This record gives sequence, structure tokens and C-alpha cells, in this order.
Amino acid sequence: SSSVNGSPNFRRKPVIIIVVGMAGSGKTTLLHRLVCHTHLKNIRGYVMNLDPAVMTLPYAANIDVRDTVKYKEVMKQFNLGPNGGILTSLNLFATKFDEVISVIERRADQLDYVLVDTPGQIEIFTWSASGAIITEAFASTFPTVVTYVIDTPRSEDPTTFMSNMLYACSILYKTRLPLILTFNKIDVAAHQFALEWMKDFEAFQAAASSDNSYTSTLTQSLSLVLDEFYNNLKSVGVSAVSGVGMEAFFKAVEASTEEYMENY
Ligand code: GDP
Ligand code: MG
Repeated sequence: SSSVNGSPNFRRKPVIIIVVGMAGSGKTTLLHRLVCHTHLKNIRGYVMNLDPAVMTLPYAANIDVRDTVKYKEVMKQFNLGPNGGILTSLNLFATKFDEVISVIERRADQLDYVLVDTPGQIEIFTWSASGAIITEAFASTFPTVVTYVIDTPRSEDPTTFMSNMLYACSILYKTRLPLILTFNKIDVAAHQFALEWMKDFEAFQAAASSDNSYTSTLTQSLSLVLDEFYNNLKSVGVSAVSGVGMEAFFKAVEASTEEYMENY
């Protein structure tokens, strides 16, 4: 098989945790919270920022795309708008990603995790060549897991919930890496409803049917697809603000790492 575990360059550590999610879902805040948690627990990690356009970060990044490419200059140089500037900056960074991998490889013995923050606009990472190149470079060298961060209060709306799940499903499909759903902001709304909808699609349908614009045939068909998807992932509830759920998050990462080792 082409299993990367058999590759001579493959290492068992550190575990790469790629954090993706819709703009505003709380990725950056969660990363900061995870860093605080790792400091408390003596877990050794690196944090990497892949958002070329972020102004300020709540955490100190060990590796930062902004040190290598200045997105405003890229915008000027290539005559691009903000999105094109961010995309091109990430592309430029991706062409040098083997150097980033080397830096991590040299420190591998001292690192348990590398937490990776991605651009605010999700598609810049998930639907770009550079996102695929970066993900592939990680996954062929270290155990790599992806976490999809969800704004839980906003997902109480069944339509938004379904959109989020389909997006998460497309990420699983594209990366083929172990996926953890991280229901964030549970200080505002508990994620119990989501767990219930994922376990029992009739409960979801009941909720969705109160929305008349929702076609029940489509909902039913999608439920069948998603049922298989739900069976293949882990989900945790966290609050990046209050800090609940950090232990559960790292447990899910551990289980996903096992899964990676067995399957990739
Ligand atoms: P990103 O675009 O995914 O990186 O999202 P940010 O980390 O920048 O967060 C977006 C907004 O959500 C900010 O106003 C955060 O303060 C807020 N936020 C993030 N996590 C939480 C959380 O767990 N609870 C609450 N109440 N707000 C949060
Ligand atoms: Mg962010």
C-alpha cells in the first residue's frame, strides 16, 4: 500500500492539528485557549499561524506566515484585492513549505503537538492548491488530524447546522484525514442538541420540518449520507472563552492520532 507510515521520512511526533472552520467560529480564540491548556499541563507544542491578513493574535506564534509574506505588499505587487492577496500570499508560503517541515522535524523530539491556525475565510485554505499542498506535506511527515470548529449557538438553526455538517463532510472527503468536530461557544449554548441530531436523524427532521422552506425529501436523503459521515468522526464541545472541554479535545486528538496510525 502507499501508507505514509511506511515512508522512511515518517515520524510519530509531533501530532499536527489543523484547525479549520467558518470565519468567526472561534479558531484563533480556541488556539489561544489550547496553548494556555498545554502550558498548564506541560504539553509541549508549537503554534503556527497561516492567516496572512490577521492583524493581531492572542497567542505567540512559533511559525507565522506573516514573517515570510506581507500580504499588503503582495496585493500591491500583483494588483489584487484582499482575497486574492491572502490566497497568493498562502500560495507563496506553500512553495517554501518544505522548509517549514524541516524546522518542525529538527524540533520533533521536543514537540508533542503543532497547532495550525488557518485563514479567517475557510475556502482560502480548504479550496486552494496551497491548502492541499500544506495539508499533504504535513500528513506525509507527521500524524495529522483536522478539526472543524463550529459556532454552536448559530448552528441551533437546522439549516445552518446542515450547511455546517455538509461543509465538514466535504473537508473529510478532500483531506481524508481523521476529523474532529469541535462545537465551540458552549458557554453560550450547549451542544446537546447537535449530538442528538447526529444520533437520531428523525429528531433532526422534526426540528427541520418546522422550517417550511426546507424540503423534507432533500433533508431525508442528506440524513442518510450524513449518518455514515457521523459514524466516522468524533465530536467534542468546548468553550474557547471559558476553557471547558480542553481535556476532551486532547482526548479526541489522541484517539484520532491512533486512527491515523492505523489507516494512513
Ligand atoms: P475565527 O475567525 O474563527 O478565528 O474566530 P475568532 O477566534 O476570531 O472569534 C470570533 C469571535 O467569536 C470573537 O469575537 C470571539 O471572542 C468569539 N468567540 C470565540 N470563541 C468563543 C467562545 O467559546 N465563546 C464565546 N462566547 N465567544 C467566542
Ligand atoms: Mg482567526
